[in-house]
Amino acid sequence: LVQVKNKFEGIWRLSKLGVPVHKDPGKDFLGISEGLLDEIAKVLEFPVALMLPQDAFSVFRKSFDARKMLKEPKFVYTVDMDVSKLLSLEPRTWDFISELEPKVGLVEHMPNARVSGDLISIIRDGKKNDTGKMTRENGPNSFSVSEKSYKCPTTRKPKIAVVGSGPSGLFASLVLAELGADVTLIERGQAVEQRGRDIGALVVRRALQVESNFCFGEGGAGTWSDGKLVTRIGRNSGSVLTVMKTLVHFGAPNNILVDGKPHLGTDRLIPLLRNFRQHLQGLGVTIKFGTRVDDLLVEDGHVVGVKVSDSRDKLRFNGQKLGYDGVVLAVGHSARDIYHMLLSHNMVLIPKDFSVGLRIEHPQELMNRIQYSTLATEVCKGRGKVPVADYKVVKYVNGEDGDLPSNSRAPSRSCYSFCMCPGGQVVLTSTNPSELCINGMSFSRRASKWANAALVVSVSTKDFDAHSCHGALAGVEFQREYERRAAIMGGGNFVVPVQTVTDFLENKLSVTSVPPSSYRLGVKAANLHELFPTHITEALQRSISAFDKELPGFISSEALLHGVETRTSSPIQIPRNIDTYESTSLKGLYPVGEGAGYAGGIVSAAVDGMHAGFAVARNFDLYDSCV
Ligand code: FAD
Repeated sequence: LVQVKNKFEGIWRLSKLGVPVHKDPGKDFLGISEGLLDEIAKVLEFPVALMLPQDAFSVFRKSFDARKMLKEPKFVYTVDMDVSKLLSLEPRTWDFISELEPKVGLVEHMPNARVSGDLISIIRDGKKNDTGKMTRENGPNSFSVSEKSYKCPTTRKPKIAVVGSGPSGLFASLVLAELGADVTLIERGQAVEQRGRDIGALVVRRALQVESNFCFGEGGAGTWSDGKLVTRIGRNSGSVLTVMKTLVHFGAPNNILVDGKPHLGTDRLIPLLRNFRQHLQGLGVTIKFGTRVDDLLVEDGHVVGVKVSDSRDKLRFNGQKLGYDGVVLAVGHSARDIYHMLLSHNMVLIPKDFSVGLRIEHPQELMNRIQYSTLATEVCKGRGKVPVADYKVVKYVNGEDGDLPSNSRAPSRSCYSFCMCPGGQVVLTSTNPSELCINGMSFSRRASKWANAALVVSVSTKDFDAHSCHGALAGVEFQREYERRAAIMGGGNFVVPVQTVTDFLENKLSVTSVPPSSYRLGVKAANLHELFPTHITEALQRSISAFDKELPGFISSEALLHGVETRTSSPIQIPRNIDTYESTSLKGLYPVGEGAGYAGGIVSAAVDGMHAGFAVARNFDLYDSCV
């Protein structure tokens, strides 16, 4: 026994355990079913599955795999095995345990499997273990040691303004407040309660509040969203796990920690944000909703505060000046006025690539059939055994290898589906009545009749040539141009121009009535070829044909393309110091999140805000990284 114990300290991780759908209790079950125990026994080469103690295993990840090449769709598990609990087995089975060996990709010994907590417990435990200051070692991720750029008088707490309450601003505020800064969170939009009413008025009466809408307000752009928590920055990284656990702390269900494609939905995000707000207020954070930052106060090349106005009632406190020791700028990429303001301070902004395109919508049942064939009946509007079908498609189009006509202006581009919302709806994300842009959202059950996704093509600075007179903001003007065109093609009043996929491929106007759409403010048949330059339209056409090969039925007269999707990621980046997160052109300013070009999506924005919070805290001596 001693030998066995010595060999097997810690956790063993078992991967790629596939349980066929008929043997699995379904997508919402995260325990150890008999079907899963059978698969575990197979991988371990243990003769009698039912002899394995269930409590020795816990599900680390569960995803659904319905790829066509499989004999049958299955749930795929990664399971952690605590060998110490296997020692309760009968002594004659110990031989089996002592023969356990790692198998590449299937069984791995994880002697140091990290059990990190949520951000609040990490910071509070760190403070307890230390002399009151967090250190780099007990933080959620390591930072390289940096010079402190600015020291606040030690006699008082540093006063920090965080501008923007999206994921990046919220996580920066949380870290700073937990570490003892005097934080003011300034948000041009409204708290979720009022924001919900404003969005309701938009959807029902077409009344767009330019400061409280799908982009602006508590929780940022991600609140009335699908709440997908997938990220390309490494699902298992310490930072991502910390963010996910913090979301659970504020009310997200535990399954987001295990689900292969975690998502929340708007109905879960709203109460979560209220809890987040109450926690911040409990820490003494001052939250100013309906307050827009219009300018920075700069003295001797150092930001010393902000100029704000009441975003609803300009007469109330227009031009009020508020002093701060540092300003975290977490404004998202729809705050175009902020980019202009930064240029007025001679700040350097660097144009960056992003993507533009259209949003495609299919009936969800069609997508379920395409993805699951006979299993489609198991979906049952989000309450069924298997998840509502989604998809992710990508096509690389290259002008030189014949994919695009040789006379095409297009260099290599990728065309891909983006922000796919199964069981969702298409929503208006304009922040200005003369511009039209859209995105998708859903509720937690994803029970609507529709499946929508953006189909976008990458664009680079070469595409913005015509707008070069706008300098660093050429990409912003490029976005604006197509948003204005879409508004005109829709005929105004936020009506969205649409075309069936089949007509788009044939370049003809959808003359007979167009199929229904989930978009609530109305659609109008248009020829979407008149929207983008030819090379973008061609790239979309070719990609759609390729996607149909992967997902037969994707090209359908029931599939409707909506214009226009432009705000896929930030068109600029605000350069900052890699260690201090301070702007390289203005001291005391910390650009973070998606609007600054450092994130794309809810989780990566939250991670960036969290890291920025630690970096700012370190600069103000609240967090000691020099250990
Ligand atoms: P934002 O969330 O944009 O927050 C910026 C905040 O700053 C806003 O609340 C804004 O009002 C405020 N602000 C701006 N200017 C000022 C100012 N001058 N003064 C004061 N406040 C200001 N991502 C996903 O990962 N999964 C999804 O399912 C998903 N779905 C989406 C659906 C929709 C409809 C939209 C619009 C976006 C979706 N996204 C999704 C993208 C995601 O929301 C963003 O990537 C993320 O919110 C960026 O976070 P952020 O904190 O950087 O900025």
